[in-house]
Amino acid sequence: MFKKILIANRGEIALRVIRAAREMGVATVAVHSTADADAMHVRMADESICIGPASSTDSYLSVPAIISACEITGAEAIHPGYGFMSENASFVQALEDHGIAFIGPTAEHIRIMGDKITAKDTMKALGVPCVPGSDGGVPDFETAQALCDDMGFPVIIKATAGGGGRGMKLAKTAEELETAFRTARAEGKAAFGNDEVYIEKYLGTPRHIEVQVFGDGKGRAVHLGERDCSLQRRHQKVFEEAPGPSITPEQRAEIGRTCAEAVARINYAGAGTIEFLYENGEFFFIEMNTRLQVEHPVTEAIFGVDLVREQIRVAAGYDMSFQQEDLQINGHSIEVRLNAEKLPNFTPCPGTITQYHAPGGLGVRMDSALYDGYRIPPYYDSLIGKLIVHGRDRPEALARLHRALGELIIDGIDTTVPLFHALLEEKDIHTGDYTIHWLEKWLETNL
Ligand code: ADP
Repeated sequence: MFKKILIANRGEIALRVIRAAREMGVATVAVHSTADADAMHVRMADESICIGPASSTDSYLSVPAIISACEITGAEAIHPGYGFMSENASFVQALEDHGIAFIGPTAEHIRIMGDKITAKDTMKALGVPCVPGSDGGVPDFETAQALCDDMGFPVIIKATAGGGGRGMKLAKTAEELETAFRTARAEGKAAFGNDEVYIEKYLGTPRHIEVQVFGDGKGRAVHLGERDCSLQRRHQKVFEEAPGPSITPEQRAEIGRTCAEAVARINYAGAGTIEFLYENGEFFFIEMNTRLQVEHPVTEAIFGVDLVREQIRVAAGYDMSFQQEDLQINGHSIEVRLNAEKLPNFTPCPGTITQYHAPGGLGVRMDSALYDGYRIPPYYDSLIGKLIVHGRDRPEALARLHRALGELIIDGIDTTVPLFHALLEEKDIHTGDYTIHWLEKWLETNL
């Protein structure tokens, strides 16, 4: 086992990794920017090292700074968390060249899944169901036109290098196709330096269902069911749950098996998430995330496993500590994302926390790096915590969420907590009857 690992991240996810490492007897190194000198992850790690100024480009995204920090502290491996360096193939390549282990998949797997056309081709070849559309890249508008006349509208044009909802354009009719095609290309070029695009049938009322997979890098892999993350604002998830309220045990077993077999066949190592749009009982692959997701705790809750511990084990060359038959679902779990944002416009709202009290009790988990007097710096993501609840069934989980939100105190800044109080008043949230458009529509007339 590793003696010491470095966590190339900040905030709640850095704490999450430190906690798993400490339970395993592995020492931790926190890295931080000058703006994060007082951050909780710095206090909680065994050692810490400043890697640059506030701007993430010069600190949390600086490959030389992070590698130097490893060399100075003698850390043998890096956990990237999510965001920052977690899906950066050239970073992983650089670590390989320096003999530092990466707690995650290979650079090659990150590269394949980071290009949407290659990812889709790979998944299709592995038997994973995909959204109908073009066979790879569409070179020019005439080809796009011929294809869409055949396939029918609406369609969505996507930049192969796109991400975070950028480089993606909807064409409802043939008239809208040319503008959508040219805009998606231009956005892909401007934001990602690659103007290759492909086309998919646009699904009208899907849910976002994602399957958690885990591989040992040696041809064995399991799935840990699905999460429903349909409640989104501007493609950002705000409320996630597992299991998905619309998925039957048979569907779970089937899509889970397909996903686990796919990643086993490519010798995938560590945690991964295969994202689908789900409509009328069918799954359609959209992308694979080759990292730990923000919402992984809902999966941990219902399966009773520690995914970060597993990631560290596999990166150190150990086998996974579970097999498919060991993984049984117990109850229901929900996560809500607490952001330092002012409603109704979700304006980022950094500032000083004058009082913080985390909820507790049975089935409540609060993953947060907040503390009394903490000054939230304005330079980074607005996520300040995740409240995760677990109950014997969905109604119990919802009641527990309501109870825990009532106990939570975060004073001094505005947060998204009132959004969740309001959502818990909605019938559709209680019946689980929502698609990826539900929240945006609801926000138009509420708050
Ligand atoms: P990104 O990498 O930019 O997040 P994704 O391919 O994951 O892009 O898609 C982001 C979101 O766009 C999805 O969660 C869904 O809301 C919407 N979307 C993507 N593809 C389709 C499609 N074929 N039909 C309908 N909506 C889609």
